[in-house]
Amino acid sequence: MGVVAGCSLTSQDLRSGGVLKPEQANMDVLFYSIALDVDFINNSINGHAVVTFDFEDTAEGILLDLWHGLQVRKVEVNHLDVSFEHTKDDLLKIGYDITFPAGKYEVKVHYGGKPAKAENPPWKGGFQWEKDSRGNHWMAITCQGEGGKIYFPCKDHPSDKPDLGAELIITVPEDLVVAGPGMIESHTIENGKATWHWKTHYPISNYSIVFNVGKYVLAERDYETRNGNKVPMHFYILEENIQKADKHLTLLERSLGVLEKYFGEYPFADEKVGIVETPHLGMEHQTMNAYGNKFRYQTIGEVDFDWLMHHELGHEWWGNKVFNRDWAHMWIQEGICSFGDALFTLEYAGQEAYNRQMRMTARNVKNQLPIIPGEVADSDEVYQPDIYGKGAFFMHTLKYILGNELFFRILLDFIHEPAYTYIHPVDTDDVEQYFSLRSGQNLKPIFDFYLKTTKWLEIEIRQNEKGAYEARLANFDGVLPMEFETDKGVIKTKLGQDWETIPSSIYPVADPEGYYLKKVK
Ligand SMILES: [Zn+2]
Repeated sequence: MGVVAGCSLTSQDLRSGGVLKPEQANMDVLFYSIALDVDFINNSINGHAVVTFDFEDTAEGILLDLWHGLQVRKVEVNHLDVSFEHTKDDLLKIGYDITFPAGKYEVKVHYGGKPAKAENPPWKGGFQWEKDSRGNHWMAITCQGEGGKIYFPCKDHPSDKPDLGAELIITVPEDLVVAGPGMIESHTIENGKATWHWKTHYPISNYSIVFNVGKYVLAERDYETRNGNKVPMHFYILEENIQKADKHLTLLERSLGVLEKYFGEYPFADEKVGIVETPHLGMEHQTMNAYGNKFRYQTIGEVDFDWLMHHELGHEWWGNKVFNRDWAHMWIQEGICSFGDALFTLEYAGQEAYNRQMRMTARNVKNQLPIIPGEVADSDEVYQPDIYGKGAFFMHTLKYILGNELFFRILLDFIHEPAYTYIHPVDTDDVEQYFSLRSGQNLKPIFDFYLKTTKWLEIEIRQNEKGAYEARLANFDGVLPMEFETDKGVIKTKLGQDWETIPSSIYPVADPEGYYLKKVK
């Protein structure tokens, strides 16, 4: 317990996920309740957290994760004090002298201290204690890479969301506002302090169970979803920026429209669409997305667009509704979400602009490491730029292979499958098998090629002895649709490992629109 001499007091080397600890495989988390008093003078937190979970089998002790830099004072299991040990490698071992039969447990951990400061949020996360331009306190938490354990006791693995949601009961100076996930249950003021009770009933990833504090004003507007449901849009914006709120909500509405068109109804329609202004760039915090792009808009077609807000919003579908079983499959969240960014261009600037954007995406693909580094990976092992761009481009390739109509129908159906959403994590096999089954095509070779290798598709073109052009795929075991620009215009054909004649009297240009990550020889 307490800080062990020589241990790092930063979150620098914290990672989340990876190999599921055997003691935690037996645990199904049901609910997190976190009640903390935030001290802006000492930059510390103090309070308790209750983890409610089921043991599927008998267990010898309870293992939770909690960053070692926080101090645990007391632990209760079902209201009885129990022994515990808080180790320097961020484990909280509870009741290791007790046998716990299968069943439901409530573990209450009393703790506090100075949480780790964010080194480079949101990428190297932690707590960020800032001031806005008027000198008001402004605090944010990011912990996608570090895990919820950076400030609350939890089962730190992406596969297990609390089935029944989470609540945050946060006490701050009374002039400050706390913004969190779900809906406000209550806001009470006592002795100069305000307590904000936020609660969500949706399953939620640990890294989304965070709160933000600032001198916020609430800007709101109702949004009517694609299915005709009314959802409040809530923007917690710094008082100093309130005049920018109205336009920003218009952009939010527009982004919602595009994402709903391709991915279906906003997934958290029973609660809210939330954004909160943060001192870091942004993060996909479910129903309270962090926004720190400072209202720097670009123009797409004729309209203003905020790429950061749109991207984090896209994660409500890919990341929050659909989430990965293991960080090894993080491309599903980042790649498909980034593809959703390009769909805004498709919608507001047209096919040509969208194709151009995808060609630019292709140029930025590194192809140095496979997107899926192995069957199991922690948050650090998987993180690299290609999970975004190459992942998005893979969707572009798949869309070409299947054709727009079939591709979008399968994608839309996938995200409406109860087995792949909300509480059920997915991996790449789930996505591949669904697309293969629904399309009647074996897509495993192309999934593997893009996601598990760093190869570029090699298209060989030659002139045979009769002077005719021929082409084939040199390093892909399968047949793919392919276009060639010839003197007779663009022709569509199918290409495999056998030479295919390309009817052209000039050297044909393979894949002129750029549907593949390729090299032409
Ligand atoms: Zn993202």
